[in-house]
Amino acid sequence: MPDDLDALTISRRIGPELVDLRRRLHRIPEVGLHLPDTQAAVVEALAGLDLEVTLGESLSSVVAVLRGRAPVSGERPVVLLRGDMDALPVTEEVDVDYVSQRPGTMHACGHDLHMAGLVGAARILHELREQLVGDVVLMFQPAEEGPGGAEPMIREGLLEAAGRRVDAAYAVHVYSTDHPFGTWFGRPGTLMAAADEVTVVVHGLGGHGAAPERTLDPVPVACEIVLAFHTAVTRQFSVWDPVVLTVGKIAAGTVNNVIPDDARIEASLRTFSPEHRAKAHEVVTRLAQGIAAAHGLTAEVSIGNGYPVTVNDVDEQAFAQGVVVDLFGADRWTDMVNPEAGSEDMSFVLEEVPGAYLNVSACAHADLHDAQDNHSPRAAFDDAVVPDVAAALAEMALRRSRQLATG
Ligand SMILES: [Zn+2]
Repeated sequence: MPDDLDALTISRRIGPELVDLRRRLHRIPEVGLHLPDTQAAVVEALAGLDLEVTLGESLSSVVAVLRGRAPVSGERPVVLLRGDMDALPVTEEVDVDYVSQRPGTMHACGHDLHMAGLVGAARILHELREQLVGDVVLMFQPAEEGPGGAEPMIREGLLEAAGRRVDAAYAVHVYSTDHPFGTWFGRPGTLMAAADEVTVVVHGLGGHGAAPERTLDPVPVACEIVLAFHTAVTRQFSVWDPVVLTVGKIAAGTVNNVIPDDARIEASLRTFSPEHRAKAHEVVTRLAQGIAAAHGLTAEVSIGNGYPVTVNDVDEQAFAQGVVVDLFGADRWTDMVNPEAGSEDMSFVLEEVPGAYLNVSACAHADLHDAQDNHSPRAAFDDAVVPDVAAALAEMALRRSRQLATG
């Protein structure tokens, strides 16, 4: 076998083409579930590879199955690699010659690097398919920033795309800040929060501000509910499994001397375990309804289910971290001490299949203090990291499917 047939070497050779693809994608950002130009660019970049490509029905996803050619005795392992595709409603302020050509829309979370990295992994695995045991599902996913693309892709058959259920799943996310360029970071277990929207409408009976006894005033009741929410966070949940409950909006009434019929509370709820998430839904509902009832009013509670907690399987995380350390060296790895309070819809895949989600810094600034967070109009990503992302994803698929085949 020629010496240059390994993932890292191939990634270096095709690196300039991957960087070029990333920049083309960066110029044409699209937001949400329907990304026709982005989807067309991904399909074009995969053309010429021996893949089974399926386009999404309810969203602009691309699922490509790559069949390995190494002999397998028994069931063919299936590994899933994911890259998200969508941009954000942000006007870019980064001064680069491939700046977004669509004012009001920007790849401010680096998903353009993810697509280029996943295309790179596909090209590497295609070139190495004589060594690949089993099949790889390449998941190009819209709407990570909302309303969510992973769930509809699962409904459309993502996890069975290779004809057998996926055995393990991996994803990589780039960061524009926090760590020096090229540093990989992650943690086993809980990685990111679940994020839910809570809305409470307190229904009372409005009337004259001079005669509250003839009304059912929802305003003080709403205030009590807000205070009770904050008390509950510290009194009913362990500090070792945190809950963040922020009331970002409270609205009622029109003028000073009219008691309104209703009051409305909107809150953001973030939790880090399924247990506390379920308990928090219960507590919030009980408090709002109970406090309203105690005053003779009613409260209507709705909780919009956001993305679940993102959990890295302990063994899969150790495996993925091992691949990164082997490829790039131990000094390129940093353990994350705490989970992040952001959320991610890869969580839906990781609820179904054991896997790992790793981060890597693509910080474009020598001094981290100059760097702006992902989602900022000034978030700058150095795409020199793209070949590394491609090599890491490809190597994870190669090694894990070999392990799965040998049991
Ligand atoms: Zn993102």
